[in-house]
Amino acid sequence: MKTIGLIGGMSWESSVEYYRIINEEVKKRLGGLHSAKCLLHSVDFAEVERYQVRGEWDKAGKLLGDVALSLEKGGAEFIIICTNTMHKVIEYIEEKLNIPILHIAEATAKQIKKSNINKVGLLGTKFTMEQDFYKSRIESNGIRVLVPNSSERDVVHKVIYDELCLGNIQQSSRDYYKKVIKSLVDEGAEGIILGCTEIGLLVKQEDSEVPLFDTTVIHAIESVNTALD
Ligand code: GLU
Repeated sequence: MKTIGLIGGMSWESSVEYYRIINEEVKKRLGGLHSAKCLLHSVDFAEVERYQVRGEWDKAGKLLGDVALSLEKGGAEFIIICTNTMHKVIEYIEEKLNIPILHIAEATAKQIKKSNINKVGLLGTKFTMEQDFYKSRIESNGIRVLVPNSSERDVVHKVIYDELCLGNIQQSSRDYYKKVIKSLVDEGAEGIILGCTEIGLLVKQEDSEVPLFDTTVIHAIESVNTALD
């Protein structure tokens, strides 16, 4: 079994899910007392969020690059970045490492392709929904990506930072997300990417008439596939 290096804390509410899912999956596959070999380096999210707001992506990239290197030195054999948004700075991280990074969007695209879906809706932070670094990874796999309209994107983003990353789960926000999902489906989305690692805490499969692709679950399971390969 390979040792997984997790860059977490963005937010810790979802890192907990990664840790749980990875260990449950290893136990399911290997049985008995088996658990995952892993290292988790959890950052202070306030620091990262400040860089995001100021557009200081180089500083965020350097911070996460140093974290990744410490995981490599500690014995990690590959890395997962436990957030969709911070894949924006993956190049800064990769250039410091001798070990690979398992990309969350690549793992997600692989799963969507298995379902024979060609058009998906994407929910996430505004960085993820509006910029190219994430959508292009999905689209290069032959999958079309639809995003909510501008005012919907504002609310989806605000719920992530003001509620979900603080562990605050509100029925009114769930209802809003359900409405946004419904509009994306009306536009032709055959599936929805929960492209932020906290959204799975709010929205479940029963909240959508089309399949949901929860990036936290997909990424965590794919890391177990790699660890046990
Ligand atoms: N965890 C979220 C994501 O998957 C948002 C927090 C962040 O900005 O990293 O994008």
